[in-house]
Amino acid sequence: MKFGKWLAAAAGVLALAACGQQAGNDQGAAQQGGGAGAAGGEVNLYTARHYDSDLALYDRFTQLTGIRINRIEGNADQLIARMTSEGERSPADVFITADAGALWRAQQAGLFQPVQSQVLGEAVPENLREPQGHWYGFSRRARIVAYDPEKVRPEEIDTYEKLAGERFRGKLCVRSADSVYNLSLVGALIEAWGPERAGQWAQGIVANMARAPEGGDRDQIRAVGAGVCEVALTNSYYYIRMANGEDANDRQVTSRVLLAFPSLDGQGAHVNISGGGVARHAPNRDNAQRLLEFFASAEVQQHIARNNNEFPASPGVQAPPPVDAFANFQAHPMPVARFAARQPEAQSLMSRAGWR
Ligand code: FE
Repeated sequence: MKFGKWLAAAAGVLALAACGQQAGNDQGAAQQGGGAGAAGGEVNLYTARHYDSDLALYDRFTQLTGIRINRIEGNADQLIARMTSEGERSPADVFITADAGALWRAQQAGLFQPVQSQVLGEAVPENLREPQGHWYGFSRRARIVAYDPEKVRPEEIDTYEKLAGERFRGKLCVRSADSVYNLSLVGALIEAWGPERAGQWAQGIVANMARAPEGGDRDQIRAVGAGVCEVALTNSYYYIRMANGEDANDRQVTSRVLLAFPSLDGQGAHVNISGGGVARHAPNRDNAQRLLEFFASAEVQQHIARNNNEFPASPGVQAPPPVDAFANFQAHPMPVARFAARQPEAQSLMSRAGWR
């Protein structure tokens, strides 16, 4: 969920999107590339991540490499549109965003070039990257279930199938079908089950909705807390962030609402990524690859996990608190590139099911 906040900047209009959970995060320092480079040159990062905590990462990269990072921020669709209209004159070197579905959209738009690197190959598990190297995952998130333990027993929500069953008629909260998170989940179900069965699942979900889809994932969790629904679909980091954040109401909600990791065909919970790739027309291609390798490093994986409450991508990277308390779930091994490519199918299937 992103709220576009547009600010005019000197050299043109830079898209600065503030994430809902980060107030006062305008980061007015976002710069356009093209200035004089430092000793190590520069790299132009187009990113849909916008966390104050990332500023320390960028400084660290410059410290390690001498390469200065120029940042353009926006949500994924804004940045994809921008890079598309810039065409081969785009200054973009690296594009970073959340969700394999969004990375796939950028790939479909021809915005990435393949990168093969030993560092990336070793740091990022095969199922969490695009097979040709167009993009790589640096952190993982699971799309799972928040539930009211006073009304729901864990065994009633231990599979995705059960969420669509009659037990939860009128008892489920979920955001709209245009959420890339939902598209990716349904894409994964199509990949696992085929379109017919996935379509039936979507129909079951629509039948189970306690209300028409509204709000983001945190609103679904809050709705469980408020008794509007018994179960809700959410990405893992929203719950973990609410449970450990500064908002007393959200902490109260998550003390009464629990998180469950349903399994897909007994192989684990649906897992997605945040990640990025090197831009097709990157003017600083080598620096771009170094920046990607930096993002894939254990240090950065831990940083993202700590600050954004995601899980590290690499099995060898220890999950930091507070996500370590949730990190030992079984993750479905499905390659993220497979379900990412099923977005158009997922969208039409959800529309036909009446999922708004
Ligand atoms: Fe999100």
